[in-house]
Amino acid sequence: MSENAERGWLPDFLLINGEIKSGTAFFVDESGIITRLSQAPADVGRAQRLKGRAVLPGLVNVHSHTFQRVIRGRTEWRNQGQRDTFWTWREKMYDAATRLTPEQIYQAAKAAFLEMLLSGITTVGEFHYLHHQADGDRYSDPNLIGKLVIQAAREVGLRIVLLRTAYLRAGYGKAPNPGQTRFITGDAATFISDTEELSGWVKKFRFRGEAEVGVAPHSVRAVTRDYLLEIADYARQQELCLHMHVSEQPGENEACIQEYGASPVTWLERMGLLGPRFTAVHAIHISEAEAGFLADSGSSICACPTSERNLADGAVRADWLLARGANICLGSDSQIQIDLLEDARLLEYDLRMQQLERVVLDPAAPGRERLSQTLYQTASKSGAKSLRQNVGELSVGKPADFVGIDLDDLSVAGASREMLLANVVFSLERTAVKDVYVGGRCVVRDGRHPLQESITAEFKRVQREFWG
Ligand SMILES: [Zn+2]
Repeated sequence: MSENAERGWLPDFLLINGEIKSGTAFFVDESGIITRLSQAPADVGRAQRLKGRAVLPGLVNVHSHTFQRVIRGRTEWRNQGQRDTFWTWREKMYDAATRLTPEQIYQAAKAAFLEMLLSGITTVGEFHYLHHQADGDRYSDPNLIGKLVIQAAREVGLRIVLLRTAYLRAGYGKAPNPGQTRFITGDAATFISDTEELSGWVKKFRFRGEAEVGVAPHSVRAVTRDYLLEIADYARQQELCLHMHVSEQPGENEACIQEYGASPVTWLERMGLLGPRFTAVHAIHISEAEAGFLADSGSSICACPTSERNLADGAVRADWLLARGANICLGSDSQIQIDLLEDARLLEYDLRMQQLERVVLDPAAPGRERLSQTLYQTASKSGAKSLRQNVGELSVGKPADFVGIDLDDLSVAGASREMLLANVVFSLERTAVKDVYVGGRCVVRDGRHPLQESITAEFKRVQREFWG
């Protein structure tokens, strides 16, 4: 490679291996892969100076349902005479899920993905279950909507893993729910061949290696044992990541105990489904022993604290999980708020509120940066592990997915190098996110995205049309 093809940046501060460094430049080759980090004066002089900026690894949003962006703020009231819970919220969500057109889903995805980029997210795991027409009929292309969602991510510039979701039934012994008709594929063989078709399409277009497919049986409730095992077997053969909603609500545990005589994590462990390719989304209502099953099997746990607090789900026992060495990552889920650092700080704050104690997630703390390092990692490197993507940290051989934050933004101004990461994790506002790069390519510059006006205008039109 000629020297001319190499590009490099020198920010004031750079987060490498959890440590904030100064005077370090980093360089990429023409495909945007990091080739070296250097403090040598000759190298530092060649790099583009990012003055007043700290550069951090791009954030990884492991669990997203982009279409739910359209119901933001539209579920914050009770139906007359009724308690409002996750389950009543779900009926409101289904009302939107059944009515959205493919074009509206595409525009909502672009708006949500843009908001993610502007908040420093560079990779998303989209848990996608809107497959069919409202009456359950298949589109002539069974992956029509999935492809539109992938296209939305690629147009905006976000790296995406589309987690193609399998759904079969309302639940054990439950009558079909018309709100779910759009999600259902009646047999595992068809689900697998549809997934193969989408994987082939993604490979054909390659998308610069920035789109991939995984699988996601929706929950223990929504599939049968045999259906789940068939999909898990397919995922094992293809080495795909396998994501599943697990124990978000106590009602899910009760149904699983009724059907299988065990709560979901225990049952999944018995079925041999936990492991390094498995991610349990939520995993809130689990026992300490089940936290051990997840950790010991190398599974990931995706907490979605901003969404979970909105849906009255509860708070994940991050203390149990981290004490056992589990990989905790984060997701924006229902899109009520898209701010992965808020999710990171809530992991700790929810436990402070319950336990009336501070620094719960690093009680042994020999170093002042440990808690902030742990929490930043949940929003970056741990998410990359869950989605099996070679991102989440700035090191040689990885794509340069990074965020440049403004050190003069009032939410972090005045932080010393040693205290910067704690300022970022506990107080950074989105106004500080100025530059976002994916694979060495600048997608947000000075806090603006080139498609920002048009995507916003299209999304406002969709909202007007959809809600009247
Ligand atoms: Zn979800």
